[in-house]
Amino acid sequence: MGLFGGIEAGGTKFVCAVASVARPCEVLAEERFPTTTPVDTIKRAVDFFEPYAADLHGLGIASFGPVDLDRSSPTYGFVTTTPKPNWSYADLVGPVAEAYAVPIAFDTDVNGAALGEHRWGAARGLDTFCYFTIGTGIGGGAMVNGAMVHGLLHPEMGHLIVPHDLVTDPFKGCCPFHGDCFEGMASGPAMERRWGARAESLPPDHPAWDLEATYIAEAFRSVVCILSPQRIILGGGVMSQPHVLPLVRSKLLGTLNGYIQAKSLLDDVESYIVAPSLGNQSGVLGAIALGMRAVAEAAL
Ligand code: ADP
Ligand code: ZN
Repeated sequence: MGLFGGIEAGGTKFVCAVASVARPCEVLAEERFPTTTPVDTIKRAVDFFEPYAADLHGLGIASFGPVDLDRSSPTYGFVTTTPKPNWSYADLVGPVAEAYAVPIAFDTDVNGAALGEHRWGAARGLDTFCYFTIGTGIGGGAMVNGAMVHGLLHPEMGHLIVPHDLVTDPFKGCCPFHGDCFEGMASGPAMERRWGARAESLPPDHPAWDLEATYIAEAFRSVVCILSPQRIILGGGVMSQPHVLPLVRSKLLGTLNGYIQAKSLLDDVESYIVAPSLGNQSGVLGAIALGMRAVAEAAL
C-alpha cells in the first residue's frame, strides 16, 4: 500500500504520521513526542517511518520557524533564527532526506496547517485565506490565489505591529525581537506575563479576554487589508476558550468600521472567522498534505 508521511515539527511536541495514498485524510499510525534536542527529536521522527520505508511515496515536514525554504540556500530545510534553545540553525530536512529517498516538501507549521484545512477542512473551495494559531507563539499561514505564500522567506504574521496604548496596557510585551508586536502582546506566554496567571486559569469575565480579542482583531484588520482573505481560520491553545471567537469577530467588524464592503464579512462574520475544523490533527494532516504536494510536484 502506498503511503504519505507527515511530520508536524512543533516547538513543544513533534507529531509523525502516515496515511494511505488512497485515503490521505485518515491517519493510519501516529506518534507524538516532546521536542527535546534536535539530534534526539529528529532521530525519533526518522525512526518512526522506518517500518513504512518501502511504501513511502512522499513526506511533508511542517515546522515551527523561522525556517529556510530557499532550495538553493546552504541552510535549506533548517530552522533558523529561533530563540528556542539548541534549535538555532538546526537541520531538520537533511537527516530525513538522507534516510528516505522520496520527494520531501518543507514549509512552516502554519502554512502546512492551512494547506490541510484547504484540502479537508474549513477552507475547502477557497483560494485566498489565512490560518492563525494563538499559542506559545503566534503564527499565520496564508494561501493566496491557490498558492501558499512564500517570498523573501515566508510570512511571519505573528510579528505584525498592533496598536499599543501604554495607559490602558502598560505591559511592555515579551517578543525577544520586538517587545510589543502581536505575538509579544497576545501569545499565551504574553497573557501569563501580563496577568500573572496562565491563560487557561483566567475566567471568561476577566478583562484579559477583551484586551486579547482587541489585539487579535487589530492584527486581523491589517491582514484583511493586505491579503484580502476570503476566510480566517483561528486556532491554538488560547482560542480553546469558546467566548473569545465571538469577541474577535465583533471587534474586527468594529475596527474595519464598514470600510471593507464584502457581504461574507459583513453579513456572515460567523463564517468569516472560524475555528479549524481538523482540530488537533490540522498540523499533522497539513504535513501529509505537503507530502502529497511534494509527490505531485516531483511528477511534473
Ligand atoms: P503550542 O503553541 O506550543 O503548539 P498551544 O497552542 O496549546 O501549544 O499553546 C500553548 C499556550 O496556550 C500556553 O501559553 C497556554 O497557556 C495557552 N492555553 C492552552 N490551553 C488553553 C486554554 N484552554 N485556554 C486558554 N489558554 C490556553
Ligand atoms: Zn515579534
